[in-house]
Amino acid sequence: MATKLPKVPVVVVGMGWAGGIVSAELTKAGIPVVGLERGKDRKTSDYLMAHDELRYQHREELMQDLSKETITHRNNEKMRALPMRDYGTFIVGDGVGGAGSHWNGQTYRFLPYDFEIKSMTDEKYGPGKLGADYPIQDWGLTYDEMEPYYDTFEKMAGISGETVESYGKRSNPYPTGPMLKTPIMKMFEEATKNLGYTPYVLPSANLSEAYENPDGISRGACQYCAFCENFGCEYGAKADPAVTVIPVAKDTGQLDLRTHSNVTEILNDGTKATGVLYIDMITGEEFEQPAEVVVVTSYVFNNVRLLLNSGLGKPYDSKSNTGVIGKNYAYQVSSASSMMFFEDQEFNLYGGAGALGIEIPEYVGDNFDHSDLKFIHGAGIRVTQYGNRPIANNVVPKGTPAWGAEFKSQSIKYSNSFFPVKSQGASMPYRYNYLDLDPTYKDAYGKPLLRMTFDYTEHDRELVKYISQKTHEIAEEIGADIIDTNDTQNDFNVNKDTNTHNTGGVIMGTDPETSAVNTYLQMWDADNVFVVGASAFPHNSSFNPTGTLGALSYRASEGIQRYLDEGGSLV
Ligand SMILES: Cc1cc2nc3c(=O)[nH]c(=O)nc-3n(C[C@H](O)[C@H](O)[C@H](O)COP(=O)(O)OP(=O)(O)OC[C@H]3O[C@@H](n4cnc5c(N)ncnc54)[C@H](O)[C@@H]3O)c2cc1C
Ligand code: SF4
Repeated sequence: MATKLPKVPVVVVGMGWAGGIVSAELTKAGIPVVGLERGKDRKTSDYLMAHDELRYQHREELMQDLSKETITHRNNEKMRALPMRDYGTFIVGDGVGGAGSHWNGQTYRFLPYDFEIKSMTDEKYGPGKLGADYPIQDWGLTYDEMEPYYDTFEKMAGISGETVESYGKRSNPYPTGPMLKTPIMKMFEEATKNLGYTPYVLPSANLSEAYENPDGISRGACQYCAFCENFGCEYGAKADPAVTVIPVAKDTGQLDLRTHSNVTEILNDGTKATGVLYIDMITGEEFEQPAEVVVVTSYVFNNVRLLLNSGLGKPYDSKSNTGVIGKNYAYQVSSASSMMFFEDQEFNLYGGAGALGIEIPEYVGDNFDHSDLKFIHGAGIRVTQYGNRPIANNVVPKGTPAWGAEFKSQSIKYSNSFFPVKSQGASMPYRYNYLDLDPTYKDAYGKPLLRMTFDYTEHDRELVKYISQKTHEIAEEIGADIIDTNDTQNDFNVNKDTNTHNTGGVIMGTDPETSAVNTYLQMWDADNVFVVGASAFPHNSSFNPTGTLGALSYRASEGIQRYLDEGGSLV
């Protein structure tokens, strides 16, 4: 029997970027918030001298414990889904800061084209360019409406970068200047300029210089320490909710943050939530936390799972093509790449930062003509320098044996003499790619796991074929001695693929028949539930998602305040 606690105005489920921003904005406005986070508390000092590749990268200390909770996956509806027992892809965050503690920090805005993708595609290429099984839709708000929220997010996080004209109007330049260029970035820059492209340094949440944000939070500059992706930052230079928005919320005295608190259900009467049920993971006690507003910020997977396990919203059904919860799950395509090896050049590849890199804008969005192509959107083509690590990096040319003396000698020979021209491509939603509840497997608390049905589509495979030609041309211009280009998108493999950008499942829009939340991320079916995160994206862009989910979190915070004042649907 759960212990019933006193009612509060707002309960927030999950304390990553989405939960941290909502908590900061509401508490600054004087609204008390209970923040429930299943993981532990974290702070910068936890990461002092923590450059331990085995502990953080391979044993995934900062990630969700897969022995307690995971997802199941199948490539299509004819298969039986099996639990993901090891991380390959989807390294899901856990603890205060969420995946915002161990992310890389590449912080983009989506394009004006992204927000109006359906109208713009129909207008330029005629209706039905992709076919009925690709349910692309406009987001219900435009880039211009999103712009002030992007600006707020970038100022809070101190994003470093260079303005790119074709990416939409900005009200302000990036708050800090671009990161430094390393020799391999300069090689990419020179080659792409020779080919007529306009390279730019990636927008980064690894601070290029010391910065104080509008909330008065001061952070130091990035040291290019190379232990960034999968690691917390010991300098506080990487924007992380635990060093930006969450301390601000705590300082107001209005945030009641409860760690080790795993929410298992959103209690509701079918039209409104009444609160949440959660388990104290240390004592095993169960609590009911009543609230006027429930804000679900537990990442794409748990946002969908909590709604389905709570009977909130209409579950998506691929056969009848009805329902919305679980619909339009999308991933990204990163297979198009050209690995380059150099016989007589060495670089210092073991220095770097999570968001250090350089890219061209010519093949993103609709910046190129798709009339004769079987896909829309595109990919960022780039060179990055995150910093190699000795266990993870033993890259050898194609045809080298996978073990033995030759493998060892080639791996040593090229250890500082290789880098790829790679890409990150957009993925469109597909009718038969979706999230629902697994009929067989349950988590440690007896709740059904989330089941993912997903494989790459023809759209994705065509995009990889096209983009790989471009990565190859750039690699040739750079002048590598060996170029291994991959032009094929294999079937999706949950244990091998490496992109961590999941979107959809609780998508936003203007029509309750085709979307789960409105443009404030307020549920159509329960107006006191806000579901915040990349789960709201109707499709996945080629860019990393956090800038956009951060911007949407600011907009949702405004909506929640309005709801507390006025009640009812906000649109
Ligand atoms: C290795 C890696 C690198 C990345 N690099 C980039 C990048 O460069 N750029 C970019 O834009 N994005 C990047 N991302 C993605 C980025 O980290 C996420 O988009 C972002 O952190 C998501 O924020 P969120 O608040 O929605 O979810 P999360 O950060 O996942 O936070 C959700 C929180 O909810 C908690 N939670 C979940 N379920 C429950 C429950 N039932 N009860 C209580 N609490 C719960 C979790 O423990 C977690 O703390 C990266 C991700 C990874 C894994
Ligand atoms: S690379 Fe920079 S931002 Fe990343 S962990 Fe190291 S110091 Fe921090």
